[in-house]
Amino acid sequence: MRGGAGRKRSIQTTAAGRSAPGARRGTARVRERNCSVARTLGILSDAWTFLVIREAYFGAKRFETFRSSLGLPRATLIERLKRLTEQGIFRQERYSETSQRVEYRLTESGLELYPCFLALMQFGDRWLAGPKGPPLRLIHHTCNSMCRPIVACSSCLEEVTARRATYRDGPGAGFSTIAPARRARRSSDPSQFLRGRPSSVSNTLQLIGDRWSFLIIREAFLGSRRFDRLQSELKIASNILSDRLARLVTTGILARRRYQNQPERFEYRLTDMGKDLYGPLIAMMAWGDRWLAGPKGPPLILTHRDCGKDFTPLVICDRCRKPVASHDMGYQLNYDPQDFGAPDVPGPRAVPARRKARLNVPP
Ligand SMILES: [Zn+2]
Ligand SMILES: [Zn+2]
Repeated sequence: MRGGAGRKRSIQTTAAGRSAPGARRGTARVRERNCSVARTLGILSDAWTFLVIREAYFGAKRFETFRSSLGLPRATLIERLKRLTEQGIFRQERYSETSQRVEYRLTESGLELYPCFLALMQFGDRWLAGPKGPPLRLIHHTCNSMCRPIVACSSCLEEVTARRATYRDGPGAGFSTIAPARRARRSSDPSQFLRGRPSSVSNTLQLIGDRWSFLIIREAFLGSRRFDRLQSELKIASNILSDRLARLVTTGILARRRYQNQPERFEYRLTDMGKDLYGPLIAMMAWGDRWLAGPKGPPLILTHRDCGKDFTPLVICDRCRKPVASHDMGYQLNYDPQDFGAPDVPGPRAVPARRKARLNVPP
């Protein structure tokens, strides 16, 4: 994210120093700060991609299972499965020695995305669950308890919040050229995140919104509060910045405050809800550092104020303090999957769904 020296992003210019002709059409090559969260969100912020990975956690392996759970067009599903295989999140395996057909299985990197899903889910459960409560209850098989995963410091295993952590440049800090297509790519329709099962992860990703909204949230964590500063940090068109800021205020992530009367000027600060996105963001950062950072290493290093040590964010069970993994977690569904047109595809250790299940949640 932010570093000390040279917080400059430049749009490549022609020899005459003017913006290249392509700039206006959004094809200029842009240098952007290396950021493992942005890299991870580059994968998850595509609604279809996210939904396919989520169904895999629910046990889907075969093309037709994904297709019937999500109702995706065939060509879209083929494209997403292909891309996820190229990205190393799925690997293909034949049904059997004699079969030509393949299953899609999560690789180690795919399985390790699971804690990020849980961190996003916890945020959604806290802030976005409706009157019926969170859609899923989690059962940690390791300690056989109802569990609320938390994002914790790898050194002291205590929960980490934005206030209790500092950051500095890591060996991978710097800038990379972003392919214009990636930067300009329109996000998928955010409402698609809500397809199929009710999900706090979907709610959270829909709230974070597109890549621009996320980058604004990131800058807010780094202390940028004012329009001009955000604009110069992100090289973002002012109409897009106004639009995204208005949306982030409406959704309750940012609060708008007047800091000057004549002329009237406003700044944008993270609300308590906005600050609570810190956990999911650093969980995604940890995954990006591990699987997507270049050979130099992580762009950012975090230090936990409470224990004074550098740390890697870990998603752990609040009861037994052990890291959570998909094979150790069971679910109770707080909804009937039939209500959402999704056939129930429970994972191998999922607890059977019960309509309006009453749960005894330990204090
Ligand atoms: Zn610590
Ligand atoms: Zn546990």
